[in-house]
Amino acid sequence: MAILIDGKQLAIDVRTRIKEATAKLPRRPGLAVILVGEDPASQVYVRNKEKDCIHCGFAGQTFRMEDCSEEELLALIERLNKNENIDGILVQLPLPAHINERRILEAIDPDKDVDAFHPANVGRMVVGKPVLLPCTPAGVMEMFHAYGIDLAGKHCVVVGRSNIVGKPMGLLMLREDATVTFCHSKTPDLAACTREADVLVVAAGRQGLISADMVKEGAVVIDVAMNRDPETGKFTGDVLFDEVEKKASYITPVPGGVGPMTRAILMQNVYAAARHHMGLDTEEE
Ligand code: NAP
Repeated sequence: MAILIDGKQLAIDVRTRIKEATAKLPRRPGLAVILVGEDPASQVYVRNKEKDCIHCGFAGQTFRMEDCSEEELLALIERLNKNENIDGILVQLPLPAHINERRILEAIDPDKDVDAFHPANVGRMVVGKPVLLPCTPAGVMEMFHAYGIDLAGKHCVVVGRSNIVGKPMGLLMLREDATVTFCHSKTPDLAACTREADVLVVAAGRQGLISADMVKEGAVVIDVAMNRDPETGKFTGDVLFDEVEKKASYITPVPGGVGPMTRAILMQNVYAAARHHMGLDTEEE
């Protein structure tokens, strides 16, 4: 039976550390969250971020807009870029179809890009310079570290190649000397790849995609996905948890696995950005 990686508890530990460290800063870190439209899931995510900010002692500010033009949104981001009390700017995705997502994300000052989606930050991550890291993959790396899972020399297989999860996930594991394989919807024999994995990270968004026969005995299995089960309405992952946990050495649950860590790393990024803006960041550029 696999050891359960408790993302919920790890996230509490991360937030507690941040809260204590924040109390020693000369001013409160500031996070601006922009929400356009009325997507119910986005409303929940934004409320959670507000709660996390309060918990960590940050000054959180949410800009809720029923609708706005791309130019209005760009103007708001420009104001926030210049505001010295704002350390992080986060635009909740998805944006309405009439707004060019890329253009908006690239307007955020890379130093305030706490989601780490800006190409300047992606580039810094690729070449290994100090940078804010994308929250979900960085949260998974924290899980490996917390549970003493050493990636060096391991074969890590990532299912999914999105810019926000799959690609950065593979890059971060490569940085820790793993041998990395990326799978995606055009991979002809997914099972043949996943069965080779010492560490399997699944982020496809396809409920039930990974069954026990696709997993090597003793593998570490990380389920990033959050699918809404059409029958129960509950969140489920891509991995068939009940059968895979019998074969894996470590496994993450959904919910209570990667999701809480993503939230915690966002707070860690705001804290890191704030330190940088306060001139307390001594790491070499
Ligand atoms: P995405 O942009 O839709 O990317 C999904 C990736 O999975 C794509 O690369 C796609 O391949 C691949 N894929 C789809 N079906 C596949 C299949 N049958 N076999 C192999 N690969 C397949 O999604 P995302 O934003 O990366 O998110 C992935 C999942 O993680 C979603 O369930 C999302 O809700 C969840 N998520 C969770 C968190 C969290 O905090 N826990 C954060 C972010 C995302 P192609 O590139 O070929 O299309």
